[in-house]
Amino acid sequence: MRHYNFSPGPATLPEAVLEQAQEELLDFHGLGASVMEISHRGPDFMALAEQAEADLRELMGIPDNYRVLFLSGGASTQFASAPLNLAAQGRPNIIDSGIWSSKAIDEAKRLTGVHVAASTKDGNYARAPLQDELVISDDAAYLHYTDNETIGGVQFDYIPQAIIGGQDVPVICDMSSSIMGREMDVSKFGMIYAGAQKNIGPAGITLVIVRDDLLARAPKAGIPTMLDYRTMVKTDSMYNTPPTFAWYLCGLVFQWMKRQGGIPAIAEINQRKAAKLYAAIDNSDFYSNPVELRHRSITNVPFILADESLNARFLAESKAAGLLNLKGHRSVGGMRASLYNAMPEAGVDALVDFMKAFERDHG
Ligand code: PMP
Repeated sequence: MRHYNFSPGPATLPEAVLEQAQEELLDFHGLGASVMEISHRGPDFMALAEQAEADLRELMGIPDNYRVLFLSGGASTQFASAPLNLAAQGRPNIIDSGIWSSKAIDEAKRLTGVHVAASTKDGNYARAPLQDELVISDDAAYLHYTDNETIGGVQFDYIPQAIIGGQDVPVICDMSSSIMGREMDVSKFGMIYAGAQKNIGPAGITLVIVRDDLLARAPKAGIPTMLDYRTMVKTDSMYNTPPTFAWYLCGLVFQWMKRQGGIPAIAEINQRKAAKLYAAIDNSDFYSNPVELRHRSITNVPFILADESLNARFLAESKAAGLLNLKGHRSVGGMRASLYNAMPEAGVDALVDFMKAFERDHG
C-alpha cells in the first residue's frame, strides 16, 4: 500500500515508473539481465541514455548549443564544479536567498573569490532578492542563483539578469528542487544544474545543462578530471562508470512526463496543488507560512502550527492517515510539504482535508 509521500528528497516517484521498473527489473528488454547488470558502453544502455537525453531536450526545449550531462556527486558537487570550470577569468557573483545558496557561496569561497550580489538573510529569507537589488561586480564571471530554496520554501518569480561592459553575464541556476516543475526558457541560462532526487528521478544523478561557449572558459589545468565539464562532454558523461540504474529511472520519468502532456500540463497541476495548500494555510489562524506571496515556492511549502506543542501529534496523526514525511527542516521547524511533479493532486486534497480535521480537533 503506497501512501502520499511529501518528502523533500529523495522524493515520491510516479507510481507508473516504479511499476515499469519492477516489471523490467529481472529481464531488461529481453537481455536476460537487469539494466543494473549490463555495460554502460553496450548498445542497450547507450540507446537508453540517448533516448533519455532526447526526451529531456524535447520536454525542456533545450537549444542545440547546450550540452546535457548526467553526472554523479549530487548538486553539492556542482557548487565546486561551477567555479572551477567557469570562474577562471573572474569572480562568481552569487545571490543569497537561503540555506542552499549559502552553501553554494561557502563552497565557491574555498576555491576562489566570491561576490554576494544580494542577500535576504537579514529578513530571515522571507523572500528572494529582487532584480533591482542586485549589485554585480565588474569582474563577474557569472551570476548564480537558486531558483527554489527547498528548505525555506522561497522561489524566484523571475530570472535574474546582469550586464557588465555591455555583455550579458552568464546566469547559472541551481534548479534542484524546481526543474521541470514549470516552464523555463533554457536559452536565458548559461548553465542549469539539478540533483535528480526531487522532480527527475532517484538520488545518484545530477543533471547539468551547459551552453557550449562557456566550456571554453575552463582553465587548461587544475580541474580534477571528474569535475571537468569538457571531460564529461567528450565522453558522453561516461568517463567513469555512471550510476546506470538512476539514469535509467530518470529516462522512465521523462517518458512519464511526456505522457502527462509535458511541462505545461504538469505545471498547471502544480499551480493548482500549491494554490490549494496555501489557501488552506492562509484561511486559518492555526497554520501559517512566513514567505512573501510572490516568492512562495510551488514545490516546497513550509508551514508552522500556531501551537508548536502540537507538532508531534500532527506528525503522528498525519502519518497514521497515510501522509508521510511532513516534518519541517530542523532549521525552520514546523512542517513542510513537498509537492513535486509526482505528487498527485489527490495527495494535496488529502493533506488539506487532514489539516482541516486536525484544526477542528485541536484548534
Ligand atoms: N540545492 C538545492 C536547492 C537542494 O535542495 C539540494 C538538496 N536538497 C542541493 C542543492 C544539494 O543536492 P545534493 O544532495 O544532490 O548534493
